[in-house]
Amino acid sequence: MSVVQDRIRAGELSPHEATAAVLADLPASATSMQRVLNATGALLHTNLGRAQLSAAAVDALRVAAGATDVELDLTANQRARRGRGALDALAQAVPNAQAVHVVNNGAGAIFLAAVALAAGREIVISRGELVEIGDGFRIPELLESSGATLREVGTTNRTTLRDYENAINDRTAFVLKVHPSNFTLAGFTSTVSVRDLSALGVPLIVDIGSGLLAPEPLLPDEPDAITALNAGADLVTASGDKLLGGPQCGLLLGSSSVVEKLRRHPVTRALRVDKLTLAALEATLRGPHTPTWLALHAGPDVLRTRCEELSGRLRTAGVPASVVEAVGVVGGGGAPGVELAGSAVALPEEFARPLRTGRPAVLGRIEKGQLLLDLRCIDAGADDELYNAVTRVHLAGSGA
Ligand SMILES: *Cc1c(COP(=O)(O)O)cnc(C)c1O
Repeated sequence: MSVVQDRIRAGELSPHEATAAVLADLPASATSMQRVLNATGALLHTNLGRAQLSAAAVDALRVAAGATDVELDLTANQRARRGRGALDALAQAVPNAQAVHVVNNGAGAIFLAAVALAAGREIVISRGELVEIGDGFRIPELLESSGATLREVGTTNRTTLRDYENAINDRTAFVLKVHPSNFTLAGFTSTVSVRDLSALGVPLIVDIGSGLLAPEPLLPDEPDAITALNAGADLVTASGDKLLGGPQCGLLLGSSSVVEKLRRHPVTRALRVDKLTLAALEATLRGPHTPTWLALHAGPDVLRTRCEELSGRLRTAGVPASVVEAVGVVGGGGAPGVELAGSAVALPEEFARPLRTGRPAVLGRIEKGQLLLDLRCIDAGADDELYNAVTRVHLAGSGA
C-alpha cells in the first residue's frame, strides 16, 4: 500500500487533500518507459530502441490500436489478406521483388528461410560472414538452431568463388551472403559478389541487415535490396527498424516460389507481426521521410546554426555552453566507420546525469570531459524542450 493510501486510511488528509495527493501520486503515463531525447548523434541507438518512428507512423499506430480492418475487406465483408496495405507498399518500394513477406525481425527472417528451406540440409556461408549481431546472439548459431548444417567456406579475410563451388553438393539448400554490418575488415581481403554467387546454380539468399531498399549515396558501402535482387539474389532479408526507419520487423523480398514456400511453413505463424507493426511499416514506406533519413541527411550548416542558437540562448540563461564540431554515426550495428560531419552543444560533464534522469530524459555523449548534445537525431521542433531541460538542471544547481 502506498504512503498516500496509508495517510488517507489514518484520516490525516481532508477529502480535498486526499484527492490532490492521489492525483499527484499517479504516474504520468501507464508505461514505465520514458521518452528520451536522443542527443547522442547515433541514428540507430540500440538501447534507445533503434529507429524513431515518423509522425505518420505514430498516427498509423493510433488508428490500428483499436479494431481495424487488418484482415477484413470492409466492402466485400469477407476475410482479406492480412496486412495487405503494408505488403503492397513494400512491393511497390521494391518493384523487382516478385513477392514480399514481413516477420517479427531480421533474425526471424533469416531463421524462417533456414528452417523452411534448409532443415536437414546445408547452408553454404563464408567464414568472414559468421557474424555476432549483438547481445551474444550469433547468426551461425541461429541458422543451426533451424536444423540446418553450416558448410563454412574460405577464411576470415578471404573467400573466393572457387571456395563456394567446392562446397556445393546435393545437400546444399542455399548459399547465404551476410552483410558484415557491425564491423569492417580491411587489408588483404576478398569476398564474392552477389552476381557471381547467383551463377552457382543453387538458391542465393542475401542478408543485407540495414533495410536500405535502394542505394543511399551517403552510405556507399551499405547493400540495398533492389541492387541485390538485380544482381541475382533469390531472396533478400533485412530489418525494418534500422536504416529503413520503421518499426521492428523483418523483411523478406524475392522470388514468388521462395517467398510462398516460406509463407506456408508452420513457423511463419510464430513469427507473425501484429497490426501495429503492419500499420507503422506501411506509413513508414508511404509517408514522408523518416526521422532516420532526416538525421542521416541533416546538413552540417543547419546543425551548426541550430547548435549556435541553442548555445546562445543557454549562455544568456547563465549556462556555460559552447558549440563544438561533432561526428555523428549510424550506430545500431550499422555502417561502421561512416562519420557524419556535424556540431554539438558542449556542456560541463556534470550535466549528464541530471539530464539523463530528467523528464524527458536527455541522453548525450561524453567526450574529453564534456557532455556533448548532438542535435542530429532530435527534431528541430524539440530544441525548446532541450533548452528547458538544460536550464532546469542549471537552475536546480545540479549541473555546473
Ligand atoms: C541487424 C542485423 C540482423 C538482425 O536483425 P534484427 O532485426 O536485429 O533481428 C541480421 N543480419 C544483419 C546483417 C544485421 O545487420
